[in-house]
Amino acid sequence: VTQVFSDLATFRAACDSARSTQKSVGFVPTMGALHHGHATLAQTAKSECDWVAVSIFVNPTQFGPNEDFDRYPRTLEADVRILEPMGVDAVFAPSASLVYPLGDQTRVHVGSLAEPFCGGFRPGHFEGVATVVSKLLGIVGKCSAYFGRKDYQQLQIIKRVVTDLFLPVNVVGVPTVREPDGLALSSRNRYLKPEDRQQALSLVRGLRAAFDLFEQGERNVGNLRQASCKLVERDMTKVDYVQLADPDSLEVYQDNQSAGSRLLIAMAAYLGTTRLIDNIVLGEDPRPKESI
Ligand code: AMP
Repeated sequence: VTQVFSDLATFRAACDSARSTQKSVGFVPTMGALHHGHATLAQTAKSECDWVAVSIFVNPTQFGPNEDFDRYPRTLEADVRILEPMGVDAVFAPSASLVYPLGDQTRVHVGSLAEPFCGGFRPGHFEGVATVVSKLLGIVGKCSAYFGRKDYQQLQIIKRVVTDLFLPVNVVGVPTVREPDGLALSSRNRYLKPEDRQQALSLVRGLRAAFDLFEQGERNVGNLRQASCKLVERDMTKVDYVQLADPDSLEVYQDNQSAGSRLLIAMAAYLGTTRLIDNIVLGEDPRPKESI
């Protein structure tokens, strides 16, 4: 059975107790409203670790004042029902006042990795992410922690935080899980109206366009970017960015540059008020499938 914890000391004791019996600990931090992407992280953790915990916490400090914190879906019971049959050992669902007690004042600030892409459009977002993940990892202790490549910049930032703060954590990146038609799974997809659903595919179409050009040998950043951006701009309400960058440093490439053998293409755009993101690493990830 999956044990649900809301208290820090008892959850920490459960993690310690697993390790004391020589079990390896896997940890999957989430904001809940679980879908098959989250389930895949938990499955991967279960296949690689003896004892797995999933946290469910809608972290207030990573939402901007005009973002969707209040309307973000909260479905704890349904989430536990998804995790239980997968053999997840523990769910940690703390309150905001546990994670951010009165008087707390420490924040984890990450440098240049947090500046491009979403960093430029969501001030403070990655500081909130880095802070909450550091806090959660401080509770769990030595573990392997699983993050989706869907949030590619987040994954790179977490790797950096773990290195820089000497946390005893092995960070594992898990490939993006997509709908059969290619749309990346996201808890925010449930905001999409049925008539928006087709338009949302323009993100993955933009990624495929860049993938195909790259496969044909195109290395000019501007040509790759514009082929992709054209498709995204046509169908989305507003485009925050379609950009290419070094997949490790996240240094953004200008249109007149030419790419090496691996190249991140990442995008964020709105359909109505719903903000969606997607990315692939050209030269590394497979072409996002389309079954339809
Ligand atoms: P969230 O609940 O949105 O904060 O996501 C929790 C974790 O699930 C993060 O590591 C995400 O990158 C990961 N995740 C979300 N969507 C997907 C997806 N479609 N494929 C793989 N991982 C995902």
